[in-house]
Amino acid sequence: MNTSQLYTKQQIILRVAIPSPLRRIFDYVLPETDLEFAPSIGARVLVPFGRQTLTGTITAIADNSTWPIKQLKPIVQVLEAEALIPNKLRELLLWASNYYQYPLGLLLDSAMPAWFRKNKTLELKTALPSTIIPTTPLELNLAQQQAIDQVTANFGIFKPFLLDGITGSGKTEVYMQLIAAAIAANKQTLILIPEINLTPQTLARFQQRFPVPIAVLHSQITEKTRATAWLQAKQGIAPIILGTRLATFTPMKNPGLFIIDEEHDLSFKQQDHFRYSARDLLLKRAQLEQCPIVLGTATPALETWHNVKQQRYQRLVLPVRAGVAQKPVIEIVDIRHKKLDHGLSHYLLAQIKEHLDNKNQVLLFLNRRGYAPVIMCFKCGWHQTCQRCDSNMILHAHNQTLRCHHCEAQTAIPSACPKCADPGITAVGLGTQRIEQALAKHFPQANISRVDRDTVHNKKQLESMLDAVHAGTTDILIGTQMLAKGHHFPNLSLVAIVDIDSALFSADFRATERIGQLITQVAGRAGRGNKLGKVILQTTHPENILLNTLVHKNYHEFLELLMQERKATKLPPYSYQALIRAEAKNPASANDFLNMVKQQLAACQLQVNCQGPIPAPMEKRQGFYRAQLLLQTDKRKILQTVLNQTLPNIEAHKLARSVRWSVDVDPLDMY
Ligand code: ADP
Ligand code: ZN
Ligand code: ZN
Repeated sequence: MNTSQLYTKQQIILRVAIPSPLRRIFDYVLPETDLEFAPSIGARVLVPFGRQTLTGTITAIADNSTWPIKQLKPIVQVLEAEALIPNKLRELLLWASNYYQYPLGLLLDSAMPAWFRKNKTLELKTALPSTIIPTTPLELNLAQQQAIDQVTANFGIFKPFLLDGITGSGKTEVYMQLIAAAIAANKQTLILIPEINLTPQTLARFQQRFPVPIAVLHSQITEKTRATAWLQAKQGIAPIILGTRLATFTPMKNPGLFIIDEEHDLSFKQQDHFRYSARDLLLKRAQLEQCPIVLGTATPALETWHNVKQQRYQRLVLPVRAGVAQKPVIEIVDIRHKKLDHGLSHYLLAQIKEHLDNKNQVLLFLNRRGYAPVIMCFKCGWHQTCQRCDSNMILHAHNQTLRCHHCEAQTAIPSACPKCADPGITAVGLGTQRIEQALAKHFPQANISRVDRDTVHNKKQLESMLDAVHAGTTDILIGTQMLAKGHHFPNLSLVAIVDIDSALFSADFRATERIGQLITQVAGRAGRGNKLGKVILQTTHPENILLNTLVHKNYHEFLELLMQERKATKLPPYSYQALIRAEAKNPASANDFLNMVKQQLAACQLQVNCQGPIPAPMEKRQGFYRAQLLLQTDKRKILQTVLNQTLPNIEAHKLARSVRWSVDVDPLDMY
């Protein structure tokens, strides 16, 4: 590296973040010609970059560079006098760039609505529909009032809360009265909700309560609408900002309160490009902006529960349902020794018939997770586990082997059960499509609708499918987890979770937590005054302790058990992980690259545990061979330090040019 060069009097160095995948900031000099605006930190500038001219953001103004000053190019233009992104938000983005190891230039570029990139102006209309008669706030019960008092007492202070309330316990009412308190204090509220919940009904509920501009931000709006909402929030015109995870980065003039509804929801984690957790980033933002933040859910994520136990978050409980309704019966149905019809027991089929005959609706869940199925014996419940890890062996169908996703172990598929010698060992590999076919055969008269990634590609399609359920035209609904929350089907009386085992014995250590959330969320909907009478869980492990704790005790006891398990196996939240993925057309390249990464990591002073490289669960996709390397350590700081030290070398290495690679810090989806 060059030593710092002293600047000559006229030379001012501008450090500029550029939308490029390179994880570094570029130095430019300020030209001696007159510029329209004086450069200021956070302002965007046009700079020459290779043969292109790009828009970057000034991150620092300095008087030195590690490069010879003569080699630095002058910037072309300063685009604005003042930064469009407020300082605190830029600080958050900087922090996020470092934490998630994502290039700052790309991050700053995407944080700004595309509309402004094209330098267009906007006219902000603030007129509101005058026809709305606002709904009045409900009289709060004691628990709701206490929750609100706790949060409002902390306005102006960073303090995280878990609003722990069963479905229908009045969390949304608490949010709304908190928002009202924030408005009265001249503060803005940012509320994040899961993608699937951002329906016209949700929006209407807020609009009817608050006759004020609400800035709504999600991915399915036009560039112009998004830019308008963004500016309304930035200028303080909109006291309420409501959106999906991408709304985390909305600038606010007077931030006062942050809320995340259904904080456990997976859609708060972005799974590609910038792999951030909106929940975790909003917590960071609340800390930077000195605001209270409320995480609401009936089924807290284990990480959140851990934070409550560590007294980092204060727990607020809403123990009672606002309406009166009966709890549904939850039945654990033992399917050992039972003949199944494409995964459906005779008991379940009979129940479906009964509920359909009563003109009710039936919902079947099939865990979409666990892409690779489990190999097991239906006679004795045996399943192939890894000798070296506490995990299942996963069937890789293309070459008929069983593999452990935690180590390199591989074995052939046994021809008979090693425990009871029964030859009938089976790959549990049910898909929603297979169930749909089986049900169509049994119930030719029924109207069956399947909701999964193959049938639903956008919000519109989902909405029209859900409309059909509401209208009563759908008799049987088959779906993945996307149907679990927020929806309220008045004629639904039976819910079945077809395959609990694939979640209980998944390679993904988070699968149990998710199935627990699903069951609790589903059963909780009985409180909405619908007919839901029965929840059926099919399993070959009816004695499973986790399952029985959930069904016969409650979700929180179940979480406590899971925590013990995670602690014993040193998995998150008792450790910190990062996943490095690589893929290439050449079968060996991803592996070679990851081995190089492993060497770089081994050369560090601080050591992290490295598992792999191992083939990705879907080893070949779209002609690319994929592999991954899992980093794990018990200190967050170590992980960060090691990544900061090694990534520049890794990025510069020639093997990095032969693969597509990414870093996923705190990965949620690893399998
Ligand atoms: P959650 O968000 O926890 O699922 P909601 O806030 O949607 O619960 O409340 C569920 C139902 O109970 C709604 O119909 C709501 O209007 C009603 N509700 C909430 N709080 C009260 C209250 N204090 N008194 C009467 N009804 C209430
Ligand atoms: Zn057996
Ligand atoms: Zn193993």
